[in-house]
Amino acid sequence: GLDIQSVSKRFGDVEVLSDISLSVRAGEFVTLLGPSGCGKSTLLRIVAGLEHPDTGSIGIDDRSIDHVAPKDRGVAFVFQNYALYPHLTAYQNIAAPLVMRELTAMQRLPFIGRRLPGAASVHVSIDERVRKTADKLQIGSLLHRRPGELSGGQRQRVAVGRALVRAPQLFLMDEPLANLDAGLRIHMRSEIARLHQEIGATTLFVTHDQAEAAALSDRVAVIFGGRIRQFAAPQELYRDPVDLEVARFLTQPF
Ligand code: ATP
Ligand code: MG
Repeated sequence: GLDIQSVSKRFGDVEVLSDISLSVRAGEFVTLLGPSGCGKSTLLRIVAGLEHPDTGSIGIDDRSIDHVAPKDRGVAFVFQNYALYPHLTAYQNIAAPLVMRELTAMQRLPFIGRRLPGAASVHVSIDERVRKTADKLQIGSLLHRRPGELSGGQRQRVAVGRALVRAPQLFLMDEPLANLDAGLRIHMRSEIARLHQEIGATTLFVTHDQAEAAALSDRVAVIFGGRIRQFAAPQELYRDPVDLEVARFLTQPF
């Protein structure tokens, strides 16, 4: 599981995150729900190692990862804006993290002449994993297209594919459905639920859409004013909001 312990983060005069602690069990799907600007993306970026907290600590499976480089954290990230490589095909976008990992591994090998033993089999296994992942996301027939030739929903699935292909221990998704139309949103919501069941990776998901949070999550962390106000299963949250502020937040229209 994932352990966020007493994380604080300040930008200038504003303390965006104040002493945030949150434990996500292995295989659990947890959503951060809160208004725009409350620090959801910042917290995700801290877990991914893309941002450093002022205080506090991040652990995975009882090991601190504070000093582990982002690429070695076993964490896959779907960004708010997808951030696909525009000049690469869907196939190359999904394969990119695996190819990068192989290249880094090869650089560490002692120089043994021009031929790298095993290089061919490495490419076969990358190819197999890219195609399997794409099939799961139902984009197997679109792999030759570039992001500019894909719909929003298809691009979004390529971004999810690129994160999933690494078989991450921890899956971070920052409003991956935000730019989709209502129909596609609902469709992708169930795709994500299905994938989570299939893969079982510990997931930290971000949204400001309450229906989405309720439909997907084992537990929801309601976050505003820099703090986690309540952390509970969706049913419990709506049945027993912890205080008036949370109740107001949960009933306000978005
Ligand atoms: P949204 O729902 O709109 O995506 P969010 O909850 O993800 O919002 P963050 O992106 O985490 O919010 O930002 C939290 C606050 O910190 C915002 O007020 C933002 O302006 C500020 N902030 C974020 N990154 C930086 C930065 N690098 N420098 C200064 N301020 C920042
Ligand atoms: Mg955000």
